[in-house]
Amino acid sequence: MLIVMGPEATKTQIEEVLQVIRSLGYKPHPMPGATRTAIGITGNPGAIDPAHFENLPGVAEAIRVSKPYKLVSRDLKPEDTVVRLGDASIGGSQPAIIAGPCAVESHQQTMEIAEIVAASGAQFFRGGAFKPRTSPYSFQGLGIEGLKILADVRDRFGLKIVTEVLDTETANVVEEYADVLQIGARNMQNFSLLKRIGQTHKPVMLKRGLAATLEEFLLAAEYIMAEGNYNVILCERGVRTFADHTRNTLDLSIVPAVQNRSHLPIIVDPSHGTGKRHKVTPMARAAIAAGADGIMVEVHNHPELALSDGPQALLPEMFNQLVSEVRAIHRVIAEAQASPV
Ligand code: PEP
Ligand code: MN
Repeated sequence: MLIVMGPEATKTQIEEVLQVIRSLGYKPHPMPGATRTAIGITGNPGAIDPAHFENLPGVAEAIRVSKPYKLVSRDLKPEDTVVRLGDASIGGSQPAIIAGPCAVESHQQTMEIAEIVAASGAQFFRGGAFKPRTSPYSFQGLGIEGLKILADVRDRFGLKIVTEVLDTETANVVEEYADVLQIGARNMQNFSLLKRIGQTHKPVMLKRGLAATLEEFLLAAEYIMAEGNYNVILCERGVRTFADHTRNTLDLSIVPAVQNRSHLPIIVDPSHGTGKRHKVTPMARAAIAAGADGIMVEVHNHPELALSDGPQALLPEMFNQLVSEVRAIHRVIAEAQASPV
């Protein structure tokens, strides 16, 4: 059920609707929009009778939601969500650029890469402290020491920190240090982790699972939002297919598909999406042309020595060129859209 308040509805009228929802034992999710507030309802085991709400003051409509997801849907919030972190944002008029090494390997390595990322004008720094590795014998990340290095990057360069939360056990400590909590592809359907992260107030970047459909992806975001955290950013990072020329198949068609159904921002990770550095820039260009709200790329100053994902890491000069091309493509499209033919 979705309650749409009239454009003139007062705060008291909205509060009254929230109270009625709570008194029925359900959870209200008010979403203020440009012209009206909509209220999503979760926690109801079956259909709710719209008659509970239709005659309450300020209510314009009570609509049954037929889709399996509610809070991620554009039906609830027609305007695009912009996730804001101080002076930085994801969604909105500028493409977000998130860059950094796959993993935080040492203080020196991280600072050297952060300096390159900051100089490009990007606002977000990525780097894993807790790494999900296919082999138990591979480098697992520096853990808390890595988080402290990331905090140092924020202090020195003013970059916002995006880092992965691998499990519920380490959620508290990652939450303490990160600006954006990343949920990795392998955890997209780790429902207890999604619920736990839904209880935080930090923005969440949710990566698409290795074999997730659009609906499964949106329902994973719904898990986070149903707990009350509405700052979710989706990230396409490629899926498994029969194609063997590439690490994954980067599915850019999901960008307009998400935008059609959801108000959430969506970014693209062409590094994990391709696995090879020569493919990263072409696919980053394509992602921006397809309408993505930003990109996340891996950068390393010595990729041959990287402890993870070296073959897909951009060299610093490649990264700088990518940033300039991505911005140029974004500008051209925005200009053409501003003056339709
Ligand atoms: C990452 O971004 O470091 C990562 C491990 O990505 P994914 O979860 O998409 O494999
Ligand atoms: Mn990686």
